[in-house]
Amino acid sequence: MTNRSLLILPGDGIGPEVMAEVRKIIDWFGTQGIAFDVSEDLVGGAAYDAHGTPLHDDTMAKAQEVDAVLLGAVGGPKYDVLDFSVKPERGLLRLRKEMDLYANLRPAQCFDALADFSSLKKDVVAGLDIMIVRELTSGVYFGEPRGIHKEGNERVGINTQRYTESEIARVARSAFELARKRGNKVCSMEKANVMESGILWRDVVQEVHDAEYPDVELSHMYADAGAMQLTRWPKQFDVIVTDNLFGDLLSDLAAMLTGSLGMLPSASLGAPMANGRPKALYEPVHGSAPDIAGQGKANPIACILSFAMALRYSFDLGDEADKVEKAVEAVLADGLRTADLLGEEGTTPVSTAEMGDAIVAKLAAS
Ligand code: NAD
Repeated sequence: MTNRSLLILPGDGIGPEVMAEVRKIIDWFGTQGIAFDVSEDLVGGAAYDAHGTPLHDDTMAKAQEVDAVLLGAVGGPKYDVLDFSVKPERGLLRLRKEMDLYANLRPAQCFDALADFSSLKKDVVAGLDIMIVRELTSGVYFGEPRGIHKEGNERVGINTQRYTESEIARVARSAFELARKRGNKVCSMEKANVMESGILWRDVVQEVHDAEYPDVELSHMYADAGAMQLTRWPKQFDVIVTDNLFGDLLSDLAAMLTGSLGMLPSASLGAPMANGRPKALYEPVHGSAPDIAGQGKANPIACILSFAMALRYSFDLGDEADKVEKAVEAVLADGLRTADLLGEEGTTPVSTAEMGDAIVAKLAAS
């Protein structure tokens, strides 16, 4: 037994393929004296096929006990006909909800070798390394009243943006803690000019800063201006913290600054457990990619970088996370590319497994 427990949920489609490459990296760390207690289970369509539910209660219970959950992807056309209550995505949503994962971390990091993949100019994105922290469990996607009802002769659609002070304070703390491990800067984004919930957001973030994190540089920006600044000069940011709705938009915008879906990791963190580690779920941003599943074409880097986030944020193994990121950077600099990244001259096409092997070889040589 080690003191690092990890539950792996490969899921559907390319999920098991990319997770197999992460397993190689976990095994390599094992040979270096950094071992993990790894258990594996089913989620999504795979769990539905076996148990008639996208997440078995036993799997949910395991997820609550481990230090970190690493998930591949869920879903696929085979399951589109299922009732909403047992669709593969419900398994993922249940994990996020019952683990109360309120801080969603989406890094936007541009590896130099891939700077040409961005829709922006190379000098705007080369070397970019920012982190968007999105509040994930409250705000307008959950607020009441909501619904569509009839008023006179027409229908009215209603959603409510609602945040409590404690909901804002806890995600602000996540952002400040992260900033201390990075560039020590936080920019908070809302619409305090037109929304009362934005005024409260700004006040509470400032209060948490002044009382607990005066060493971190804090600025505030309206979310629409933030979107413009993200495309104009994204390198001005380090950590951005924002609500559920604006975070949904801004994290997708920032992610695409860096190129391919196959490169994007994420983490969702909750409250600290008894051992001080946060509840945590790590997963690539991409889905199960049924169009390329089973063909050895999937890029495993998003899932591998999600594991690197687990090293950093769940296990306090920042140096080891750096090593994984540097190994990824090195294989890309060598010109190795899975199918999603092909196009440049002088690059070498590789399969999912070849990419994983090359990253392990770079780790071993580091
Ligand atoms: P997707 O992310 O699966 O695929 C979008 C496109 O990107 C596809 O062309 C795919 O081939 C490509 N792509 C994605 N990941 C890649 C990788 N690692 N390497 C190379 N190419 C990659 O999104 P979609 O097609 O809209 O959805 C497919 C299924 O995945 C659906 O059932 C959807 O509900 C599900 N989904 C799951 C998650 C999740 O598990 N978190 C997220 C999004 C979609």
